[in-house]
Amino acid sequence: MTTQRTLAIVKPDAVAKRVAGQIVTRIENAGFTIVALKLIHMSLDEARGFYIVHRERPFYQSLCEFMTQGPCLLMVLEADNAIQRWRDLMGATDPAKAAPGTIRRDFASSIEANAVHGSDSPESAAVEIPYFFSSLELCPR
Ligand code: ATP
Ligand code: MG
Repeated sequence: MTTQRTLAIVKPDAVAKRVAGQIVTRIENAGFTIVALKLIHMSLDEARGFYIVHRERPFYQSLCEFMTQGPCLLMVLEADNAIQRWRDLMGATDPAKAAPGTIRRDFASSIEANAVHGSDSPESAAVEIPYFFSSLELCPR
């Protein structure tokens, strides 16, 4: 197994519901190392840039507006196989299809307001982490 880093976001719906702490606890209990963490309230342009790969999807505008509704908790997580392991912990995009015990099953409200984000590949993580964090904000150990 190779050590990987992934970008995790606790989305505005979950921060507003005050479950960010419970989500961080699940992350720590699952053995991830939190390498960086901050709260940011994205502008519409920042959300549009982050989700640029979805610009042709019908839900793009609504998704970007949702992501600017309130602050997000951003984290860089490190672990063996971190990208897939974080996506497994999140569960399926649609909470109605997410497995029992996953974060989206337990905390998401809808397919859009689905509590968390995770990078979907090493290539995505390599773009998404520096989109939000400078190298000085990463705390390797
Ligand atoms: P994320 O990229 O946030 O980790 P994901 O990889 O599971 O989620 P994507 O297909 O990349 O899912 O979609 C990005 C986000 O767009 C979803 O997490 C969700 O917030 C929103 N989304 C996806 N599909 C829909 C849809 N059909 N209707 C509304 N919003 C959607
Ligand atoms: Mg995705």
